[in-house]
Amino acid sequence: MKRQLSHFHGGVHPADHKSESSGRAIAIAPIPPQLIVPVRQHMGEPARPCVQPGDRVLKGQIIAHAEGYVSVAVHAPTSGTVTAIEDRPVAHPSGLNDTSIVIEPDGQDLWTTRTPTDWRNMPPSSLRNILRDMGIAGLGGAVFPTWIKLNPGRREKIPLLLLNGGECEPWITCDDLLMRERADGILQGAAIMQYLLGADEIIVGIEDNKPEAIAAMQTAASKCRHPVDVVGIPTLYPSGGAKQLIKVITGREVPSGGRSTDVGVATFNVGTAFAVHRAINHGEPMISRVVTVTGNVAVPQNHEVLLGTPMQELVRLAGDTAEPVSGYIMGGPMMGFDIPDISAPVVKATNCVLVKSVSLFPPPPPAQECIRCTRCADACPAELQPQELYWFSRSQHFDKAVAYSLFDCIECGCCSHVCPSHIPLVHYYRYAKSEISATRQAEKAANHARERHESRLARLERDEQERAARLAQRSGAKTSGDDARQSAIQAAMERARANQAESTE
Ligand code: SF4
Ligand code: SF4
Repeated sequence: MKRQLSHFHGGVHPADHKSESSGRAIAIAPIPPQLIVPVRQHMGEPARPCVQPGDRVLKGQIIAHAEGYVSVAVHAPTSGTVTAIEDRPVAHPSGLNDTSIVIEPDGQDLWTTRTPTDWRNMPPSSLRNILRDMGIAGLGGAVFPTWIKLNPGRREKIPLLLLNGGECEPWITCDDLLMRERADGILQGAAIMQYLLGADEIIVGIEDNKPEAIAAMQTAASKCRHPVDVVGIPTLYPSGGAKQLIKVITGREVPSGGRSTDVGVATFNVGTAFAVHRAINHGEPMISRVVTVTGNVAVPQNHEVLLGTPMQELVRLAGDTAEPVSGYIMGGPMMGFDIPDISAPVVKATNCVLVKSVSLFPPPPPAQECIRCTRCADACPAELQPQELYWFSRSQHFDKAVAYSLFDCIECGCCSHVCPSHIPLVHYYRYAKSEISATRQAEKAANHARERHESRLARLERDEQERAARLAQRSGAKTSGDDARQSAIQAAMERARANQAESTE
């Protein structure tokens, strides 16, 4: 029976530019001369290095352990020698450096021991710990540790496992090609996820501009022991957003500030499901991913790339065109960000390296004043008031921006896309969010310091009171001893006087 689909508010139809890279099979990118592996590739605490410069490592060996709760391990993408642990440029809008483990490959690509897991006979908590130690994080963009998302916690189960094959962002085709070529592995990963979540149902949502991927996933689903529903959804950006996909497939609305699990759904990118399959069924940690290299290059294509490969290696592989390069984006034009330095490595979040030219990405016209046309609000899939958020962010009235649900903004860029005044609205929201987060962090740190100070004062006061009590007790005991002695002397004197009186009578 055909599934009844719903619609989300707003959305836009940017030129998709998918065909440039979707016509070629996934290529295996060569091992680069040097791998730069950041220890912070996932959301949460960075992993803690457990190797030293000079150590020899094998492919798939842990080189940094998960640190704290929200974290995952990091692994050597190939065999070789650790040459440094130092700050290197990383793919981040800030352009700042971060701690990275630098490996010089030996060219042998020798694996460490790979042990498949008999997951059907393993308690869920042990299985989740394996995923943490295998470095599995969400490949859809947020890179949240998968082992945490696969824990239903007090809910005991999450009824619906929703695999996200939306890939609505223009230019990017890595999930499309993964579904076409590795559909069986994706659904084997989904079976493991279903077991961990206790899910009753698996649905795969795919935009209908990917007919080959839909067909491949349907063929794989027909071979599965567990039922899997592969659903084609209308192509409309950003239908690959988790909340939007849930709305389209189930009709349910994730509440403001809430999570998809609040409406009984756990969403994962199809690439994450495939990574879970490799980790559990093959004992292979997350050391590579599929990356679309496209835009102003001679051969736009998807490559399976070792994490840590400098992006410049991929750009070189894709070849130059006659047109000069005007910049690079990690991700797509709607939600990605400019990379100032393409010596930065591919990380778990790198789904696309988009090479810019002036003809493909003309510089935007200068921003004009907001004319209050509300087109941005009509396009906003989160049903926000982007023009108000813009005013509050720009004027630094951050409390008002929060009151207008700034943190429900998914930074999809629909508002900027339709704005006739060409205002880079999302830049303002990112700025406001980072300022608010920094203030909250500072407040948290100040509160923490104040609590520590107050508890130290309380402890000192308690110690002082206890010391005073001990002194009082000791001096009390001494006083009563003196009194007793004094009484005994007094009694003896009285007895002596009485004796004397008796003898003199
Ligand atoms: S689309 Fe642009 S000009 Fe129109 S209301 Fe929104 S911010 Fe203002
Ligand atoms: S970027 Fe934020 S405010 Fe703009 S359309 Fe997307 S969700 Fe709405």
